Amino acid sequence: MGRIAYVNGRYQPHGEAAVHVEDRGFQFADGVYEVWAVMGGRLSDAEGHFERLARSLRELRIPEPMSRGALTLVLREVLRRNRVRDGLLYLQVTRGAAPRDHAFPDAGTPPTLVVTAKPLDYAALEAKAQRGVAVITQPDQRWGRCDIKTVGLLPNVLAKQAAKEAGAYEAWLVDRDGLVTEGSSTNAWIVDANGRLRTRDTGANILRGVTRNTLIGLAEELQMPVEERPFTVTEAKSAREAFLTAASAFVTPVVSIDGEPIGDGAPGPVTRRLRALYVESARSQAV
Ligand code: PLP
Repeated sequence: MGRIAYVNGRYQPHGEAAVHVEDRGFQFADGVYEVWAVMGGRLSDAEGHFERLARSLRELRIPEPMSRGALTLVLREVLRRNRVRDGLLYLQVTRGAAPRDHAFPDAGTPPTLVVTAKPLDYAALEAKAQRGVAVITQPDQRWGRCDIKTVGLLPNVLAKQAAKEAGAYEAWLVDRDGLVTEGSSTNAWIVDANGRLRTRDTGANILRGVTRNTLIGLAEELQMPVEERPFTVTEAKSAREAFLTAASAFVTPVVSIDGEPIGDGAPGPVTRRLRALYVESARSQAV
């Protein structure tokens, strides 16, 4: 059985699924997306991703393509048709297809909705997390509304490609003040020289990661307060531990930055504990 994609009301073979040439997602990156981790066929951190999707759409004045209930049915059907038990579910909503014009199309233009799913080998990802990953730093060249999860990801794409070419997993983006904002597709964290957990505050121009938010709650339950406070690249390089969070990576240890080892160059105890805690909680809370 081949992969199936949902496009505007139809479940189609993945290789044939397509949107209109004048879809505004294609023409202007005028759209938003969400990614859920799928664990045992269920959606992890479901509520947080639904809420962020609704917010992204509201901020850009793109109409909701359907009710939350109907959307949930579509998401589950895509998982079922693709037989995904462990993997990622991707959803994109754009402002729809209309004759090319920068201004919004006529009211009533239906938004485009695309949903795809792919399996992931969580055992392989776990092995990668046991080893830890390398990151490099790159200038943050993005626009001023990174709190909205738009498909306008060109600076993120260029940063991730730079990381790949350097043999690293991720690029941490650095603002004009020398402070780390976040990764190209992940949030950035350190356990600082004083043993405190730190990640950039959401007042900054970053995405409010759902994994980040859940992890803050879990850490606080463990009496490990999180300081939502910026850190410099120098602080990150001299941190005891560093890690990143995302639906696609859970909590993944960072063992080097720009080739310089973090701590002793192996995943640290705080990060390993937080990863185990997050994965266990995500699995048990998935719906
Ligand atoms: N930051 C950026 C720029 C991202 O693109 C992502 C995820 O795609 C994240 C952070 C992590 O967000 P989440 O934990 O909701 O997956």
